[in-house]
Order: sequence, then C-alpha cells, then structure tokens
Amino acid sequence: MVKYSIIVPAYNEEKSLRLFYDAVTPMMEGLQEEYEIIFINDGSRDATKEILDGLAEEDKRVKACHFSRNFGQQAALLCGLQTARGEAVIAMDADLQDPPEVALEMIEKWKEGYDVVHGKRKKRKGETVFKKATAFLYYRVLRKITGLDMPKDVGDFKLYDRKVVDAILSLGEHDRLLRAQTTWVGFKQTFVEFDRPERVAGETHYTLKKMINLAKSGVFPNTDYTLTLPIKLGLGLCFMSVACFITFIVLSCVGVWFGGLTAWLFPTVGLIASVVLLCQGAANIHTAMIYKEVQNRPKYIVAERKNIEE
Ligand code: UDP
Ligand code: MG
Repeated sequence: MVKYSIIVPAYNEEKSLRLFYDAVTPMMEGLQEEYEIIFINDGSRDATKEILDGLAEEDKRVKACHFSRNFGQQAALLCGLQTARGEAVIAMDADLQDPPEVALEMIEKWKEGYDVVHGKRKKRKGETVFKKATAFLYYRVLRKITGLDMPKDVGDFKLYDRKVVDAILSLGEHDRLLRAQTTWVGFKQTFVEFDRPERVAGETHYTLKKMINLAKSGVFPNTDYTLTLPIKLGLGLCFMSVACFITFIVLSCVGVWFGGLTAWLFPTVGLIASVVLLCQGAANIHTAMIYKEVQNRPKYIVAERKNIEE
C-alpha cells in the first residue's frame, strides 16, 4: 500500500495538466513517502489523454484512467476513490484551484489523527456572482433539509483516511454527491482554510445543467423531505378545515352567525384537498421506504473496535 494517493478528475484540461504535475511532484517528493497521482480523464475531447499517457510513461507514479465518455466529476472522483491504494487519499482539481501547499497542511492534520480534512474556501477568485450566490444558498438549504452537518464553503478538495474511503465506497447508491456522503459517514473531521485562486488555464466546465444535476444528487439521496411534504401539508390542511367546521357549527348553534353556503365551501374544499394530500403522502412514505431499501446504506459504521476481531 502506498502512503498517499492524489486523485484528479480531468475534463479537457490539456493546458493545466503539465502545470499541475510540475507543481505537485516536487511537493510530494519532499514528503519522502511513496505516493501515486491518479488522473481520471473524464471523456476529454482535447489532448488530455495523450498528455496523461505521456506523463504516465515518464513517471510510473502517475496513473491514468480514461473514461469512455464524459460521466461527470462525481463519477471521476468515485473512480479515483476506487482506484486509489493510499493510506490517505487527496482529491484535487486539475486546474490548480486547489493549491498543492494546502494539501500539505491537510496531511499535517491527518498525521494529528483527523480522518477527513476539508479544504474550506475563504475567498473565491474568478467565479461569477451567480455561481457564488447559488452555491452559498444551496449549501445552506441542503444542510437545513438533509440535517447533515456539512461544513460550509467546502468543495471536493479533501483528504480522506483509508477507512473513510472504504466507508464511502460501502454506500449503495449510484447517484452520489461525495461531499454529502463524506459528512454522512462520520469519523473525525476538520478543515483547513485557503483562498481559492483562479484557474491556471482554460475555463470552468460547470454548465448550468451540470450544476443542477449536482444539486439534485445532494438533495434526493440524502433526504425524504420532498416525499414527506404532502403528508405534512395534508395534516395541516385537515386540522385547519376541521377547526373551521367546528367554529362554524358552534357559532351557528349559539346563534351568533349563520354563514351562507359559500362560507361552508372553504372548509369542505379544504377537507377534500387534505384527504388527497394525505393519500398521496402515505404513498410517498412507502416510496421513501423503498428508496431507502434500494439505496442500501449500512445501518451504522464502526470507527474503531477494541478486543473484537474484524
Ligand atoms: N471535471 C470533470 N468532469 C466534468 C467537469 C469537470 O472531471 O464533467 C473536472 C475538471 O477537469 C476539474 C474539476 O473537475 O479538474 C473541477 O471542474 P471545474 O474547474 O470546471 O469546476 P469549477 O472549479 O469551476 O467549479
Ligand atoms: Mg476549477
């Protein structure tokens, strides 16, 4: 087993790869431990493949996996985690937006005993206001509705201990947002802060469509909020309609108010709508339970055992 694995998703990164390799290699060599750099070429259409094959030819510590087409950064990261053999695995972007020297700080934290070290962005250069605003809002909403205590302003730049990698790979779902899964599995987590520079070359590959897909992968595997919403609305509406009926009946009986037919229509429609919502909600709860079964996440993850054979 090597000590460190660096995993790097790369999509059309012909301009950055050499710069990345030249920046990371002396830093890793300085650690004087065995390491590997695994590039996952996510179906690039430029010279990424040729450059990676060239680097792998020159340096046996460089490994490359070429996807048959573009499957997305999350799939590339998954492939990286599955391929990595290191005791500690560090995921980094190919465009040097994740500064290599911060990886060294992560390694220091790992040596102190942390199992996950997140890279936390203090400042983000070269990103549009739209991207910053949507990211800011999305992660706050995601934390709220999933109940996952995800650290704010972190991306996929992280160090994972081997046992965290194994725990993440044991999760059954196909649709993955790695940063949400990293929180879900637990273990001792911390972060190092850094200012995120601009891309060293090229342009972002995150189109709006890719961002929406990523957002979806964070929400649906991690919460049944949307599925349980109808039953909550149904219960609320049912309660309000019944309370309205009772009030109308009492007021009519004591002779204070004799509402016209239209007034009675409101709680009647409310009650009918609540029945529809409750039925839908019950069916949704069943769907949510089926999803959980299919998702097949472990019921618990053990961090350590004492006097128990694994
Ligand atoms: N990436 C990938 N597949 C994709 C999109 C991006 O492997 O479909 C890689 C990309 O090469 C880079 C990392 O994921 O190494 C982050 O992508 P990018 O820099 O475009 O995103 P941003 O930093 O703008 O969020
Ligand atoms: Mg980038």
